[in-house]
Amino acid sequence: MAFAIPTGDSVRPTDWAGLGWLFLFFWYFPGINQLLLLTTGFVGSVPLRQSLVFSLLWLVPVMIFPRMTRPFAAVIGVILWFFSLFGLFFYFIYQQEFSQSVIFIIFESNETEASEYAAQYFAWWMIPALLAYTTGAVLLWKRLRPVFLSGRHTWGFTAAVTVLLFIFPIGKAIANKGASLLTVQGVLEKNMGPVIPWQMPVAYIQYREQLASMQALLEDNARLPPLANLRDAHAGQPSTLVLVIGESTNRQHMSLYGYARPTTPKLDAMRDQLLVFNNVVSPRPYTIEVLQQALTFADQEHPNLYLTRPSLMNMMKQAGYKSYWITNQQTLTKRNTMLTTFSKQTEEQFYLNHNRSQNSPQYDGAVLEPFQQILRDPAPRKFIVVHLLGTHSKYHFRFPPEYEQFSGRKGLPTTLDDNQVEVVNDYDNAVLYNDYVVSSLIASLSQASPHAMLVYFSDHGEDVFDSAGHKVFGRIEDTPTLPMYAIPFLVWMSDGWRSERPLNYSRETLDRHYSTSHFIHTWAELAGLTFDDFEASKSLVNKAFKERPLLVGNPYKPKSMTDLRAQMPAAEGR
Ligand SMILES: [Zn+2]
Repeated sequence: MAFAIPTGDSVRPTDWAGLGWLFLFFWYFPGINQLLLLTTGFVGSVPLRQSLVFSLLWLVPVMIFPRMTRPFAAVIGVILWFFSLFGLFFYFIYQQEFSQSVIFIIFESNETEASEYAAQYFAWWMIPALLAYTTGAVLLWKRLRPVFLSGRHTWGFTAAVTVLLFIFPIGKAIANKGASLLTVQGVLEKNMGPVIPWQMPVAYIQYREQLASMQALLEDNARLPPLANLRDAHAGQPSTLVLVIGESTNRQHMSLYGYARPTTPKLDAMRDQLLVFNNVVSPRPYTIEVLQQALTFADQEHPNLYLTRPSLMNMMKQAGYKSYWITNQQTLTKRNTMLTTFSKQTEEQFYLNHNRSQNSPQYDGAVLEPFQQILRDPAPRKFIVVHLLGTHSKYHFRFPPEYEQFSGRKGLPTTLDDNQVEVVNDYDNAVLYNDYVVSSLIASLSQASPHAMLVYFSDHGEDVFDSAGHKVFGRIEDTPTLPMYAIPFLVWMSDGWRSERPLNYSRETLDRHYSTSHFIHTWAELAGLTFDDFEASKSLVNKAFKERPLLVGNPYKPKSMTDLRAQMPAAEGR
């Protein structure tokens, strides 16, 4: 095959229209998505600009090898088309940008979760939309023709693109930050990160780096200095303390919190044995990001403290508890996750979810047997974390058939369409089953140990067409609604435990506005532990409690954070 390296300056006049079609073709794939995003007003013009300048890059090879224009454009087109689908479908579903952080969440989620989401959100109109989009690409490709430029113009253009895309931004960064490989990598990641097809590989490289640092974190964690002056009000006494972490359960769907449907009959029945906190929220709408704060000293203002301070698991170990982690979440997939890191800070782990697909029935009742097994363990002081799958989508797979009790439209907003009604019914049935699991854990614990305590909260909430307008579904950090963060927060104590160290549980206490980002202080106090860094004002049950803004949003973009109290009634709940 002969490549025609263009030579001479007198070949033919420049085919500007041909160049225009080529550029339009390469820009079509990132461009359609960027144009759609601009109409929502959520995204600035930077990704659009990046997609425009990086589309110039594809012109270089077709200028150097003009005879290869159509086959080359076809290959690049298919690659760009494929990678553009992620962003396009994400836009169809959320009208949001498919950003690096979204991709991280997908990598962090277990493999099949993404396809499960896709199934849940799929709508018929997406097929014709996809066909139209693809047809547009094919029609554009048919118009492409080789453009023969003079050698001088070709190399001049190549040099200009190289300067514009690489030399100028890298030079500028080196001038500001000094020359290093990291500087260069940072510029490339920042500029190419928003642009397909580089988006995925860039995000994956960054994700792998984060994961490697997680592994290091586990090693670092083992070397952290212990909490200074740890004192234990229950020192030496046999006790069992349990932390149950729920999943995607919005308290506004629990009758315990006033929901019209009786979704939590068992917890309702034991209400007088429970401390039900009415205004607790999660700091973020994603599991890992919440637990990085709830289980450590990190919070929205100091998001990195999980790296340098002991965790709640470390604390309990230091206090002399044998610790266990039972999880019904898919933690042990090929990819290790932050969840695995936390679970490995306990002494014994029970990983119950071995499904390849989360899109299959996996019921939280599976935690009850290992829970009983641990309760029979002769270790006198036990700390048990139970991590539920809760009411995570797909809701229909979270409860066995006999819990399918809510159907029809009774008790639901009249504005919901039939599909939405079905989703809410599935969710409410999942909440009903969650009620059985949580209340069964409490029942087992109360039989097993006279000195026992159990705390249950959900990692975050879920907007199941709850917020005003009844249109929002799921969780999106950029557009926070109260249901995404409104979580149940309950404490159960055995009589023995409660009478030993009476704390303050007035109505005022139960109505306090609180974020689980400071949970470690509440847990410490409930467990009877104090230490130098304990902050009474961050403990939900302390006399010296001080209300703080309920910051939600990405703590690494402090300006994006908002105070959720603006969406909360002065005293929500009862
Ligand atoms: Zn979650």
